[in-house]
Amino acid sequence: MSRAVVALGANLGDRGNTLRAAARAIAALPGVRPVASSHEVESVAVTLDGPDATKPRYRNAVVVVETELEPQDLLDALHGIEDEHGRTRAVRWGDRTLDLDLVAYDDRTVDTVTLTVPHPRAGERAFVLAPWLDADPDAVLPGVGPVADLLAAVGDDTDRVDEPRLFDDTDTTGVRP
Ligand code: AMP
Repeated sequence: MSRAVVALGANLGDRGNTLRAAARAIAALPGVRPVASSHEVESVAVTLDGPDATKPRYRNAVVVVETELEPQDLLDALHGIEDEHGRTRAVRWGDRTLDLDLVAYDDRTVDTVTLTVPHPRAGERAFVLAPWLDADPDAVLPGVGPVADLLAAVGDDTDRVDEPRLFDDTDTTGVRP
């Protein structure tokens, strides 16, 4: 089994419901077992031109899973879940009902046309780092460093949403050994 970290984001529709449904769908994928999840956080939308406070705010979260799926197969399955939630891909970095990114997969590096792992921008994004640290206090971005240090460096501009973690408490009391 490998351990994968998936970042979830949504800024259209009922964002909380979408994230919770997506987390359930990820946990239910064949060959996937939930390990831990974060609370939801909110942050300002980032576009190709930078942060844009006029756009709907984002909700983000991170789930950690164990999986038998290879990275590309896991990404394909994540795209299937995005499609089920009405994701449109018309505008790169545009508003979206659901965005799922494969942030890390064990200590592996993958660099193909369709997949780069670890995700190249994960280390700069508080909306990935903060929930990842919440789900796994010992998290390390492979090849870069501890997530806690990276988050301290970029500054945490996210707001914790006062809702339970995405998975049930029994599944999310922290990353299991
Ligand atoms: P976006 O629309 O910004 O979410 O970009 C999606 C595209 O990024 C997809 O076509 C993926 O093939 C590609 N991609 C490359 N690396 C990753 C990754 N680590 N996680 C998710 N998508 C990725």
